[in-house]
Amino acid sequence: MRIVIKVGTSTLAHASGRLNIRQVEHLCKVLSDLKNAGHEVILVSSGAIGMGVGKLLLPQRPTDVPTKQAAAAVGQCELMYIYDKLFSEYNHTVAQILLTEGDVDNDERRQNFQNTLYRLLELQALPIINENDTVATEEFGVGDNDTLSAIVARCAGADLLVLLSDIDGLYTSDPRRDSSARLISFVAALTPEIYALAGDKGSDLAVGGMSTKLRAAKTAMDNGFDMVISNGARPEDLYDIVDGKPVGTRFIGKTGLSSAGICE
Ligand code: GLU
Repeated sequence: MRIVIKVGTSTLAHASGRLNIRQVEHLCKVLSDLKNAGHEVILVSSGAIGMGVGKLLLPQRPTDVPTKQAAAAVGQCELMYIYDKLFSEYNHTVAQILLTEGDVDNDERRQNFQNTLYRLLELQALPIINENDTVATEEFGVGDNDTLSAIVARCAGADLLVLLSDIDGLYTSDPRRDSSARLISFVAALTPEIYALAGDKGSDLAVGGMSTKLRAAKTAMDNGFDMVISNGARPEDLYDIVDGKPVGTRFIGKTGLSSAGICE
């Protein structure tokens, strides 16, 4: 299986912006094992800005573009240093790809990106992709890694996209406010009722929220692959997700269940 896994800042870093060592180590171990089992793994990793905030000891996530881009320049190095170190322990080679919107919008540039990506997979490397935040401003960039990971999965011809988040999946209402909220296990169609369930992002360092995840789900379903939202605090759930077991919320793009909307 070719799997694209997107990991959000809230999984990689503590609220301080400093690395969540236990969680990142665990994630790299599971991803290495999935590769050892024969799967092709592409990681779309956020965290450049968040990690830069931590490393530069900034009091909070910057709002001005130059400081954000400076934080991303510092944080991206830190991020790749850590991935390189942890994946090396399991004998896997990482490769960094930083994309801007133009790289995936323009046919020729997208083809170049795809050629490199396919070659890296043939070479058994583990591509780690982020938006090139140091040059892409929010106005002209993809803007969030939920969307970026869906574009990457489409370009990669992936079988599965997994978004690791700070929430277990899509709920019938906001579980942080409503104790009767229920997790929706399967979504077969993106109905207006499903879109109405998208709430706010859960952490100050994070960028996307449920609405960017639903946008990513639309790309997945339109292109015939499944997308799963799952909690990044439990990377071992990836084993069950890859086996098709019900974990988090699965948006069915592959088998196209009937247009029932929600199947719980
Ligand atoms: N590219 C951003 C970063 O690395 C994150 C964007 C996102 O999390 O959606 O900080």
